[in-house]
Amino acid sequence: MINVTKTFLPPQEEYNAILKRAWDKNWITNRGVLVQELEEKLKQYLGIPHIIATTNGTLPLQIAIKALQLTGEIITTPFSYVATTASIVWEGCRPVFVDIHPNYLTIDETKIEAAITNKTSAILATHVFGNPCHVEAIEAIAKKHHLKVIYDAAHSFGVKYKGKSIFNYGDVSTCSFHATKLFHTGEGGAMFANTEELINTLFYHHNFGHKTQETIQGIGINAKMSELQAAMGLAILPYLETILKERKRVVDYYDNNLDFSKLLKLKIREKTDWNFSYFPILFQSEKQMLKVKAMLNEQDIFPRRYFYPSLNTLSYVNSIDFPISESISTKVLCLPLYHDLKETTILKICKIVNAAV
Ligand SMILES: *Cc1c(COP(=O)(O)O)cnc(C)c1O
Repeated sequence: MINVTKTFLPPQEEYNAILKRAWDKNWITNRGVLVQELEEKLKQYLGIPHIIATTNGTLPLQIAIKALQLTGEIITTPFSYVATTASIVWEGCRPVFVDIHPNYLTIDETKIEAAITNKTSAILATHVFGNPCHVEAIEAIAKKHHLKVIYDAAHSFGVKYKGKSIFNYGDVSTCSFHATKLFHTGEGGAMFANTEELINTLFYHHNFGHKTQETIQGIGINAKMSELQAAMGLAILPYLETILKERKRVVDYYDNNLDFSKLLKLKIREKTDWNFSYFPILFQSEKQMLKVKAMLNEQDIFPRRYFYPSLNTLSYVNSIDFPISESISTKVLCLPLYHDLKETTILKICKIVNAAV
């Protein structure tokens, strides 16, 4: 079976050797040596000033909303994973959607200002498929209207924009280290901020509000990463360059063998070092997409409809129509993309897709 992704697993003996350090200390959570080492190594690898490792990529979104004390309306994208919208609603705010750019698939920054009201407190946008939002335009709008900015950078591990880690942008950025993501800890994630003050707030929020063992600075939740999760991350780190290189190989092969006269592909923003995290293609119609999906399924190949449905159609939001996001959601398919996907398989996928369109 060929799935849209396949979790990279490090050699088991290497994982065990790292786990042994947790066993030796008899310490498996509460920010032990492995979590701290993972954070240090990620800071170096990514070139970022601060990081807090977390137990998944969803709690950081909720904690960011809490830490920035957001209320009222949050402007967001309808084209993302459901966690982006759900976090806003879970934190008692109202998502206000703004349609997306038809080629970049990120929030259309030119439509943001029209959605701002006196209740707007922030913009929460997704660097979808690792493709950066127009961060400069968003920053300028946020400054002008005194709004906070959160980036759901769940797909963006390793992405650089203008030579800098994409995690440097926004008041808070978050990432997911879920097993389906490019770099993973089984379940896991991280949050990033540029000021000491904000990092401290995020930090106590993620650990029950503790400042020290016996003083509680404020309200908190438990979003700590465990040593068992960190061990997986540490075991994968040495393979990152290989993982990225192999993903590039797959993407190049698709690029060279798919017939783009009748398909649209993701337009990567200028000045971006992309991470080859997903391979979305846009068909001419939902009917055509469903036909190709069924043909691939018949061959035991399982692409995914990332992202469907458009989030403005969720039952728990009140929203108007967003034609671009809704149309793209019905026509998009992410093709299989992972480190050891074979060329023969990619070619088979390309042939099925090309024949159908
Ligand atoms: C995966 C994902 C999340 C959630 O991350 P988890 O680690 O699974 O909690 C949030 N936002 C986006 C865009 C994602 O793709």
